[in-house]
Amino acid sequence: AKRVQRIDTKVDKMRMRRKDTNTLKVKENVFDDATLKILYTVSNKGILNAIGGSISTGKEANVFLGEGKDGDIAVKIYRISSSTFRSMEEYILGDPRFRNVRHAKKDIIFAWTKKEHRNLTRAKEAGVRVPEPVHAERNVLMMEFLGEEGKAYPLLKDVNLDPEDAKLIFDTVIRYVELLYVKANLVHGDLSEYNIIVNPRTMEPIFIDMGQSVTLEHPKAREFLMRDIENILRFFKRYGIKEQAEDIYSSMKEIKQK
Ligand code: ADP
Ligand code: MN
Repeated sequence: AKRVQRIDTKVDKMRMRRKDTNTLKVKENVFDDATLKILYTVSNKGILNAIGGSISTGKEANVFLGEGKDGDIAVKIYRISSSTFRSMEEYILGDPRFRNVRHAKKDIIFAWTKKEHRNLTRAKEAGVRVPEPVHAERNVLMMEFLGEEGKAYPLLKDVNLDPEDAKLIFDTVIRYVELLYVKANLVHGDLSEYNIIVNPRTMEPIFIDMGQSVTLEHPKAREFLMRDIENILRFFKRYGIKEQAEDIYSSMKEIKQK
């Protein structure tokens, strides 16, 4: 299995100082002017001191290693020009927290970023291990960096598991799905081995990528929850775990109704 892309271990030398015009020029190909402005803003607020190597280049967002106030942070930058963002409307429309969102793409991306920050906070409060959110500003989300010495922890899909570890991780993942549903009123909505990071030393799973997570009021919440559970069962089947999605869902629903 392909290991997670290596991150540049050293945070770039360039710093984002006020009135320093050259600071982020080097990264012009990655950052548009509006995003550069946001990076200066969070720099002036003392939240982000420097931006380092790329961790991931996704369909809608780039994730970078950053230097925060108290050490490494992950900086997720949603691309304003992303063309796949139409699909976001499906998640945001119908979510009562975003009734006032205008349809303009930019506004949807800003709302999306804020929503991911809020979802991480709610998940954390419910007892789910997620990257601790630090700050959201426009299309830029800063959060706890999950890794060591600038190297990100691997995704679940890239970890070699023995059967015992697999069972422990599976149980924790299902417990987290339940905590989200029962305590946070949330459904992850894109849960799979691609959005779970594993601390390779403790084998602790960590949920990431919660921009699309929805509250239970969302008309498709149940559908998304079933899909999340099915994705998890599909992945863990290879480790001999053969539970039924319906059974897991029923037991969660029962706990919820108590
Ligand atoms: P998307 O899938 O929408 O591009 P993700 O939130 O899943 O965005 O992040 C993309 C990748 O960046 C992840 O697969 C993971 O490898 C890495 N990543 C995301 N958040 C963190 C974090 N807090 N710490 C370390 N790595 C992260
Ligand atoms: Mn992802």
